[in-house]
Amino acid sequence: MAKTTILVIEDEKNIRELIKYNLQDDGYLVAEETSGDAGLRRIQKDPPDLVLLDLMLPGMDGISVCKALKQNPKTSAIPVIMVTAKSEEIDKVLGLEIGADDYITKPFSPRELLARIKAVLRRGREHLPEAKLSSGDLEVDDARHIVTLKGKAVELTSKEYDLLKALLEARGRVLSREHLLERVWGYDQSLHIETRTVDMHVGQLRKKLKNEAERLVTIKNVGYRFDPEN
Ligand code: CA
Repeated sequence: MAKTTILVIEDEKNIRELIKYNLQDDGYLVAEETSGDAGLRRIQKDPPDLVLLDLMLPGMDGISVCKALKQNPKTSAIPVIMVTAKSEEIDKVLGLEIGADDYITKPFSPRELLARIKAVLRRGREHLPEAKLSSGDLEVDDARHIVTLKGKAVELTSKEYDLLKALLEARGRVLSREHLLERVWGYDQSLHIETRTVDMHVGQLRKKLKNEAERLVTIKNVGYRFDPEN
C-alpha cells in the first residue's frame, strides 16, 4: 500500500522538525513548506493526503491558505488540520467559511497529534466505498453497514460493529484496548472511558458471533485479535 503523505506547513524550524520526526516514525511520508504561498503551490501541483497547517505564517497566513484550499473543488477534499497557538481561534477555524477539518493547539504531544491525524484520515476514508471484509462464515459489508454470519444478518450496535470492523481490518494483528477505545469511541471520548468498556463490548460481540466467537481471541493484559484462520 502506498504511504500516506502529509504536508507540514510551518515556519518554525524546531516545531517542523519535531512534527516531521514523529510522523515519519509513525510511517508517514512528510513534505515540508515554510510559507503559505509555497504550501498552496505545492498542494496544487502535488496534492498530499493531509495538510498540517500552521495558523501564523509569514505572508499568506494559515486561514487564507485553508480558505483557498476549501474553495477550490480540486483541493477541497484534502483534509486540513490547523495548528494554532490560541484556543480562541478555534471556532473561526472550524467554521464554514474557513472549513478546516480539525485543529490542534500548541503545545501538543506527539500522541495527540497522531491521534488527530488518524481520526481525520479515517473520517475521510469513511466516505469511500470499501470492499467487503470477510473471514470464515462472517462478512462485513461496510458500504451497506451490514454484518452477516453464514449469510444471515447479525444485529450489532454501532460500537460492536466498529469493534468488529477494526479487528477484521487488522487481519490477525493484536489491537490493544487503548487502540480500540480510541478507534471506536474517538480520541476525545476515549480519554474519559475505561478500557473495561472495551471488554464489555467484546463480550456482547462474542455472544452475537456464535460459532465464530472463539476466533475473537483475548490477549491477556494487552487486548484482542481476530484469528483469520480457522
Ligand atoms: Ca508559525
